[in-house]
Amino acid sequence: IKNSGKNGSILFNAEMNGSVNRRHALEQDLRRALQNNEMEICYQPLVNTESTALHGVEALIRWNHPRYGRLSPAEFIPIAEDNRLIIDIDRQTLRDACLHVKALHDAGHPGLKLSVNLSPVMVERDDFVDHVAATLEITGFPSDCLQLEITEGLLLNDRSDIVEKLESLTRMGLSLAIDDFGTGFSSLSYLQKFPISTLKIDRSFVQKLHQKNDDACIVGAIVSMAQGLRLQIVAEGVEHVSQFNYLRSLGCDVVQGYLFGAPGTMEELLGRYPGLVSS
Ligand code: C2E
Ligand code: CA
Ligand code: CA
Repeated sequence: IKNSGKNGSILFNAEMNGSVNRRHALEQDLRRALQNNEMEICYQPLVNTESTALHGVEALIRWNHPRYGRLSPAEFIPIAEDNRLIIDIDRQTLRDACLHVKALHDAGHPGLKLSVNLSPVMVERDDFVDHVAATLEITGFPSDCLQLEITEGLLLNDRSDIVEKLESLTRMGLSLAIDDFGTGFSSLSYLQKFPISTLKIDRSFVQKLHQKNDDACIVGAIVSMAQGLRLQIVAEGVEHVSQFNYLRSLGCDVVQGYLFGAPGTMEELLGRYPGLVSS
């Protein structure tokens, strides 16, 4: 700021003010947004690598803000985690996504999987396991079709309370995935301590796969480690056929990315896969 002169620093301050104001406005608006149904769930296809058939969908939330338009979760989830409204957001998303996908099961696709992202704030709560159980009960969603996506940070300190919670969930029949795998922490010992069934390779590795470089080695190493540990592998952010072909040649089980469809409303998903309602 010092070197940018008077005008420069005024501009910088104005910009900073703008983003602080926006964050403040979003904080204020979040509670109302939930009550007014401004949150919308989009679904992104997960595709079986061998058959390219639809394996399942991941629920990804959007906020249709009356003034700012459609907001990415990357902008508002951190705010919601700070003021703990994330608990309401994640609960509502879990319930509604179960209801939406249950309707697809009932329309003739009983095996379709659903993945839902959970904030660590949600998992830390004492009533977390009971809440998931109650949601399955209320929605009638089959637990073996539900996968919950958590992040590596939760698994770091060998916490026995977290191990217990996750084991209770897998006893109920649902499965757990580690999201953004490879971006977080280097200790891999937790893979044996926690009842994880799936690793989702972060898209930052997948996106550089067409260049012959270290990322290809990292992805190859993750896939072979996962195979050794009998974990399912999902690759995120697959945008090009060459990436898909390489992942298939490695034996990666499931892929997700713009190549097979960006996240869209349930209506858009049904437009892409018309067989989901008519069969
Ligand atoms: P994520 O779980 O890693 O979700 C994947 C993100 O990658 C999504 O961003 C998706 O739109 C994007 N993506 C998918 N395929 C491609 C591709 O081929 N190329 C590129 N460049 N991007 C792709 P999105 O929807 O903006 O979500 C961002 C993050 O917000 C999610 O990352 C997830 O961590 C979080 N999130 C989304 N919905 C929820 C929710 O209901 N609860 C919680 N706690 N977090 C959520
Ligand atoms: Ca995810
Ligand atoms: Ca991810």
